Amino acid sequence: MDFKQNIRGNVAISVNPLGRKQQVLNHINYIKSKGSYEGPKKVLIIGASSSYGLATRISLAFGAGADTIGVSYEKGPKSERNLGTAGWYNNIFFKKAAEEEGLVAKNFVQDAFSHETKQDVIDYIKTEFAGKVDLVVYSLASGRRTDPETGETYTSSIKAIGDPVVGPNINMEKEEYYTETLEPATEQEIADTVKVMGGEDWELWMKALKEADVLADGVLTTNYSYLGTELNHPYYGHGTLGRAKADCDVKADTINSLLADINGKAQIVVATAVTTKASSVIPFFPVYCVGLYKVMTEKGTHETPIMHMDRIYRDMIYGEKAEYDDEGRLRPDSLELDADTQAKTKDLIEKLDENNFNTSLAAYDIFYKEFSNLNGFMVDNYVEQDVTIEELKALDY
Ligand code: NAD
Repeated sequence: MDFKQNIRGNVAISVNPLGRKQQVLNHINYIKSKGSYEGPKKVLIIGASSSYGLATRISLAFGAGADTIGVSYEKGPKSERNLGTAGWYNNIFFKKAAEEEGLVAKNFVQDAFSHETKQDVIDYIKTEFAGKVDLVVYSLASGRRTDPETGETYTSSIKAIGDPVVGPNINMEKEEYYTETLEPATEQEIADTVKVMGGEDWELWMKALKEADVLADGVLTTNYSYLGTELNHPYYGHGTLGRAKADCDVKADTINSLLADINGKAQIVVATAVTTKASSVIPFFPVYCVGLYKVMTEKGTHETPIMHMDRIYRDMIYGEKAEYDDEGRLRPDSLELDADTQAKTKDLIEKLDENNFNTSLAAYDIFYKEFSNLNGFMVDNYVEQDVTIEELKALDY
């Protein structure tokens, strides 16, 4: 079968499953090359199949020797023209590699927002996981959520609040730099975005897990946030997504009270800007990334999700290099927020236009390669192999 990269706008509509296999192995090898660290042993990751969630899972399994349960929403192969989603294959190849090392790797491919999924995970922990959970990672990114109580479905919007925002964006399908206007959100759109991407479902998970008595004494739960800088505040931090992230801060306090009697802790982790399926479709964000990555690569501080998540767990949370802000949030994004990095990024972005955004002036090449990697294309060490649709369909998650 031939695998060809196909992009619509900044959304991938094709996948190379064997490229994803190689990338999962590359990331496992990266973690192994750094040696092992003392960390959690029984981990539940909600949103485990790609980017930050997958990177977390690989670091904890192959760095700290953790057994993991991963929850995700992905699609499997149907035909040669419809091979499903990258995350489907990530789950499969992660599980295979983890099991080869004697680790438990259980995948639930179903809607994390539903009561049923929470109950299925709890039943599995009670009957088969052999031990309570000592870390719960919440790494969901979704455009929709059905409220499990009312059955009503909410859609999130990536919009500004107050005034419209006008600025440059990049279309990877056309390799084009263009001007976009982002309209302000209505009050309803703001509320709906908080409903989908805020902390309500995180809290529901923690309540359900606590009530079922499957959390270990001293359990930690992490949730990945983004604060950004003045370069992206108008469309992120001060926009609808920023409101959703602020809601997670509030829910962290509620979860801290909930977990107090078992010495548990809820930790907001303000992660750095990286290229993912979710971030590629944030308006203007690709322009920020191609400027930022250029500056950070030159400084030797640019990180991909696997590098960033490994540093967070190995060095910060389970190591001795944690940096917190006044609100108690973990701040691994200090490299991105470094004043000189931001000043140089601002200067660089101001110089970009439709003729030079994809030249060596900026890092479009890095952004494009990282995006392609997400779907199994342009993967380092990949060697073309033959595979049939029947073989792909037979792969078990
Ligand atoms: P991603 O799109 O790569 O991954 C999202 C995950 O959520 C996938 O595993 C997907 O299967 C899962 N998912 C989505 N809907 C689901 C559902 N209904 N049920 C079960 N699983 C579902 O996203 P990402 O960029 O890795 O984002 C993860 C988190 O990190 C988000 O909260 C995001 O805001 C945060 N974050 C991202 C960045 C960035 O630059 N990408 C920076 C800081 C923080």
